[in-house]
Amino acid sequence: MQYLPQHDPAVAELVRLEEARIEDTLDLIAAENHAPRSIFEAQGSIFSTKAAEGYPGHRFHAGCRNADALESLANERARQLFGADHANLQPHSGVSANLAVYFSVLNPGDRILSMKLSHGGHLSHGDPSSITSKCFNFQHYGLDPKTERIDYDQVRAQALDYKPQMIIAGASSYPRLIDYEKMEQIASRVSAYLLVDMAHIAGLVAAGVIPGPVAHADFVTFTTYKTLQGGRGGVILCRQEHAKKISRTIFPGAQGTPSLNLLAAKAVCFKLALEPVFKALQTKTRDNACALSAGFEQKGYRIVTGGTDNHLILVDLRSKGLTGDVAEKALESVGIIVNRNVIPGDPARPDVTSGIRVGAPGITSRGMGPDEVSQIVGLMDTAMINTENGDILDQVSRGVADLCRKFPVYP
Ligand SMILES: *Cc1c(COP(=O)(O)O)cnc(C)c1O
Repeated sequence: MQYLPQHDPAVAELVRLEEARIEDTLDLIAAENHAPRSIFEAQGSIFSTKAAEGYPGHRFHAGCRNADALESLANERARQLFGADHANLQPHSGVSANLAVYFSVLNPGDRILSMKLSHGGHLSHGDPSSITSKCFNFQHYGLDPKTERIDYDQVRAQALDYKPQMIIAGASSYPRLIDYEKMEQIASRVSAYLLVDMAHIAGLVAAGVIPGPVAHADFVTFTTYKTLQGGRGGVILCRQEHAKKISRTIFPGAQGTPSLNLLAAKAVCFKLALEPVFKALQTKTRDNACALSAGFEQKGYRIVTGGTDNHLILVDLRSKGLTGDVAEKALESVGIIVNRNVIPGDPARPDVTSGIRVGAPGITSRGMGPDEVSQIVGLMDTAMINTENGDILDQVSRGVADLCRKFPVYP
């Protein structure tokens, strides 16, 4: 930092504190990751100030020569990475991307079928508290109570009954693969559009570690800051036939000038994701998630669905007489950052919860592997079953600090 400490010491100090927090804590939030420094350089670049309403070659401001080149480059990389016909990189966030997809082909009041928030869905998939539910009519599918997985027969039955104009697949706390082919068949049976929201798993999909939805869906949305490691921002991929409608819904429909600095970061993100080391990182991320699952199971915790196919696990804490909120606070006090999370059919209140969601992206990006995962599970278990014992919590804190020092985020 060159200028910030002089212009605004208070914000500069918070930036320094946040850097220290990131280095000194273990980030196990499944929705987060550590981005390479080049992402920050792109995000903080001179592209922060240019107005560029419209699209490359068709702007409503002059002086867009470099902006056009930048957006075209990012767009080409996005299509190459995911094998998509068309990409729109202008959505400011994942929620904006979803809203744009809804408004591109639906009319207010149309019907959408999506996964229940309490079973792993997302607020922007029609939760009553979300603006999405005020514009469209949602019905939600849940998980099979026994397998805790999507019951495709149930989804089909609901689709036949509800006759939605759009079906959404995708979730924020679902540890298993989604059968996109089945979702595509169900959607086509009722002539509904299929939207796949792959926000959480975009990195794993980009690396080819798990199957991707692009060939099966009309629309695919995601955010670049989760497994994909690219900093904040939203993206829409779609079939060519929907391209014009998506373009017009984003601009002039829902947004003004795009954030060119975030577009620059997206370009960098896609370039890095096309490189072999990225594939290796995403493979290790999934391996570490499996190791987390096995570790917690060994310590007597139940893992929702009995394991994971992706970067996250859901730990059911009831066998230890714990709730998610108590566990989250105890873990934060020792420098381990997770979030409490409802488990399917959770009897506890949504702000209390019976589970925690644990993700491997952050620790994997620090270079940690199975040995460290096993240490982390031990530290977490010790902290969670000794939430009242200050001495033991201090010991765990020292263990966490030790690991963080050995595996710096930004060496
Ligand atoms: C995180 C997430 C989003 C929201 O992305 P923002 O960029 O925070 O708006 C949307 N959908 C799903 C499934 C997510 O997990």
